[in-house]
Amino acid sequence: MSERILIADDLATNRIVLKVKLTVACYEVIQADRCADVAALARETRPDLIILGRGRTDCSLSTCRQLKADEALGSIPIIMVSDQDDQPARLEAIMAGADDVFSKPLNEATLMAMVRNLIRARGAEDEVLRRRDLSRDFGCAEAPALFERHARVALIAPDAETGIFWRMHLATEIRHRIDIMTQSQALEDISALGGVPDAFVIASTLSETSDGLRLVSELRSRQTTRHAVIVVQDCGEAPSPSSMALDLGANAVLRPGFDARELAVRLTRLLARKFEGDDLRKSFDTSLALAVRDPLTGLHNRRFAQSYLDRLDRESRSNGQTYAVMVLDLDRFKSINDQFGHPVGDEVLVEVATRLKRNLREMDLLARYGGEEFLIALPGVSRAQAQTMAERLRRAVGDHPIATGGRPDCITVTLSIGVAVADDAMGVSGTAHELLQFADQALYRAKSDGRNQVTFVSDAA
Ligand code: GH3
Ligand code: MG
Ligand code: MG
Repeated sequence: MSERILIADDLATNRIVLKVKLTVACYEVIQADRCADVAALARETRPDLIILGRGRTDCSLSTCRQLKADEALGSIPIIMVSDQDDQPARLEAIMAGADDVFSKPLNEATLMAMVRNLIRARGAEDEVLRRRDLSRDFGCAEAPALFERHARVALIAPDAETGIFWRMHLATEIRHRIDIMTQSQALEDISALGGVPDAFVIASTLSETSDGLRLVSELRSRQTTRHAVIVVQDCGEAPSPSSMALDLGANAVLRPGFDARELAVRLTRLLARKFEGDDLRKSFDTSLALAVRDPLTGLHNRRFAQSYLDRLDRESRSNGQTYAVMVLDLDRFKSINDQFGHPVGDEVLVEVATRLKRNLREMDLLARYGGEEFLIALPGVSRAQAQTMAERLRRAVGDHPIATGGRPDCITVTLSIGVAVADDAMGVSGTAHELLQFADQALYRAKSDGRNQVTFVSDAA
């Protein structure tokens, strides 16, 4: 599906020139010839981007303000086309809420890069919103922080004096921490420098023409700076580095000549969006953690275990590694509940989980698979090793009675364990889920043979 762009301009020639260029680039174009119609048309057609021309009546600034103040339309990016190539007009447009400003004469490559950049940013925002909705489904979404967050801004200028000049002027506009960095400092382990910057302002030319752009793409590809705000300061080289910078992942490119005011407005807006994204990603990760954990024991839950087994299956198929699956079930656990009460039963379950965890390797999966049933997956384990490990687990639980709060005497509980090892030599193969069924059969045998014991699938067959 092609992205939809709404062009608003009361001059038909302006609209036609833009429409031709955008249609060639496979965008779907909708046109409005009156400022007054833009909001209604945007509401109706949900464009991915709006391009506001100055036209004859020059109502684009007020239209821009109106769109950005509208709750339903405010997130649609806006490019304003400015007839005069002067900085005050540009700043005015940015202050009115425009996400970018395009000055005539029309440089097609830059315009197209701006369009791509803003549509891509909107796509990322949709992803963030999707996470927010998912987090809400899990009941874990947190309200966004409304206070102004303190950010770290790194300036990477062509030389020290320029850096000092930028910092001096920017500091009068924003209250964030501003550090001057060299190109290599920005690429070193910046986390060691006391926190990763939230924003980078990078000169397009550092030591060689346009080498700042390499830094842009490098920062975008690194995990720690992937979501950082990046603004490029065009140093006036020819050809203009704008379109390349935007395509490499810069959020904005400033025209030659340093304008601290415009930089400050842009940074503030981009940082607010970045922080919102950071918050949502974090709360999404928390929600996800909650969705795959069992709340009583803190172990992985059945849902996670099942997808883990699928992955283990795929891996062992590709690398030929053996693995073992164990199903563990507490013996006569119902009688513990009956005798001491459900809360004591819960305490016993938590202690059993702790002991199992303590006796496994970091790489092993331990999940609470059902009420008093656990599942263990052991990658790279042979039958003999699985035997040793299962015996150790059985004894870690059964040999040491469990103390519970408020009860003077300890409670003895034992475990039955069914084991299956993916090992063709032993005649056992199949998917992890088939293996799980074998382990279940082995468990059944362990129970019928008297409980408190380890049984292998081959023994059970
Ligand atoms: P068997 O040796 O055959 O496994 O006997 P059992 O009593 O353990 O087996 P059964 O399946 O009959 O009962 C399992 C019991 O586990 C029943 C249920 O009350 C208890 N149980 C399941 N989940 C929990 C839990 O979260 N907390 C507590 N306290 N008990 C639980
Ligand atoms: Mg049981
Ligand atoms: Mg059971």
